[in-house]
Amino acid sequence: MEVVEDRFAVFVADNGQRREFDVVSPVAGKERRSSPGGSEGDAAKGQVSAWSMDLSRPDFSIAPMTLAWEVTRSCPLRCVHCRAEAQRHRRADELTTEEGIALINDVASLGTHVFVLTGGDPLARADIFDLLAHAVSTGMHVGFSPSVTGRLRSGALRRAVEVGTGTVHLSLDGAVSATHDAFRGVRGHFNRTRQAIDDVNDLGARLQVATTVSRSNISELAAIASLLDGRASSWTLFFLVATGRAEHADMLSADDEERALHWLASGEFPFAVRTVEAPKYRRIRAQLNLPVSPGVTDGNGFCFVSHIGDVQPSGFLPVTVGNVRDRPIAYWYQEHPVFQALRDTSKRGGKCGRCEFLEICGGSRARAWTATGDLLGADPTCIYEPHVDVS
Ligand code: SF4
Repeated sequence: MEVVEDRFAVFVADNGQRREFDVVSPVAGKERRSSPGGSEGDAAKGQVSAWSMDLSRPDFSIAPMTLAWEVTRSCPLRCVHCRAEAQRHRRADELTTEEGIALINDVASLGTHVFVLTGGDPLARADIFDLLAHAVSTGMHVGFSPSVTGRLRSGALRRAVEVGTGTVHLSLDGAVSATHDAFRGVRGHFNRTRQAIDDVNDLGARLQVATTVSRSNISELAAIASLLDGRASSWTLFFLVATGRAEHADMLSADDEERALHWLASGEFPFAVRTVEAPKYRRIRAQLNLPVSPGVTDGNGFCFVSHIGDVQPSGFLPVTVGNVRDRPIAYWYQEHPVFQALRDTSKRGGKCGRCEFLEICGGSRARAWTATGDLLGADPTCIYEPHVDVS
C-alpha cells in the first residue's frame, strides 16, 4: 500500500521501507530516482530537491510514542527557567498511587512505547519506585528524570536501575560551574551533576542528558558535548520556550537558533542527538541532504500529564484539554479537537502552513502559542521563508 499526500510530501509503507520522494515538485508522489542532489544553497534559492526519511513511524493518531507524567511539582531546586514553576511542597491533589497505576495501565494499553516519570523531583514521592516498577512491568521503555538533590545520593539511582528503569535523564545546562549553577540556583550543583552522571555510568545504566538551550549557554554547547563524550547515550537539547519561569528574553534569537541547529546537524557526535521544540532541525537536515527521521511534536506523538492529571500536548505547551480523573487518556489524546488539530497539518496557519517542510517540521507549536496565543500559527522563531505558494 502506498499513501501519498496530495501536495508534495509523502508517506508510505506497509513494509516499513525507507522511501524517498521529490518534495518540491507539485507532482505528488514522484519517487526520487537518484541520491539526494540538493544542497543548502539550493534551498536558499527555493529549489529544495529532496530528503530521505524513514517512513516506518507508528500511527500517532492512536497513541503517543512518548508520554511524560509529571508525578509531582515538588522540588528543592529553584531553576530560573523551570517549566513547572516547581514548588517546595507537594500538592494534596496530586494523582495518588492508585491513580498513577491506572494511568500507567491506560498508557501501556494504548501502545505507547516510552513512558517518562518526571517532575519537579520525582524522588519527592515515596511511591516513586513502585510507580517505576509498575511502568517497567507493562513492557514500556521507562525513563526516570530525577533532580540532582541530596535525595539522589542516597542509593536512589541504584534502586531506580534495579527496578528496571530503561533510561535515566539528568540535566546539564553549562560546561562550567558558573553557567550551570546560575541556571539551577545552587552553588556546587555542576559538580554534583557531574557526580550523578558518573554514578549512572558506574551502574551501567543508559543515560540521557538534557540541556536547555538559552542565551546564557549557547556558547558552551560544544564544550558540553565534549563533557558528555563517553558518558551519555543521548543528548537532548530543549530549545527554551518562554513558559513557566522562563522569559522571552532568555530565548535564542531566530538567527542564533538557526546557527545552533546547523552546528548540530553538521556535527558528528558519539551519542544520539535530539531536539525539543525545534522541529526545524529536520528542515535543516533536509537542506543539508542528511537523512531525516520522523519526530514527535507537541500532541503529535507526544503527550504530557501534569501532577494533578491535566492532559496537555507537552510540558512546554500547557494547554489543558481535560483531566485523566474525568476520562481516560485515550479519549483526550485521540479525540480532543486540540490534539486532532495539532496532528492535522492542513490546519497549520501562517508561513508554516504553506511551507514545503510542513510535513517534516510544522514549526514549534509551543513557540507559536507563547508568542501569539495561536496554537496553529507560524513558528515565530524560524528564519525560513517558504517558496511554495499553495493559495
Ligand atoms: S516555516 Fe514553519 S514549517 Fe517551515 S521550516 Fe520554518 S518552522 Fe518549519
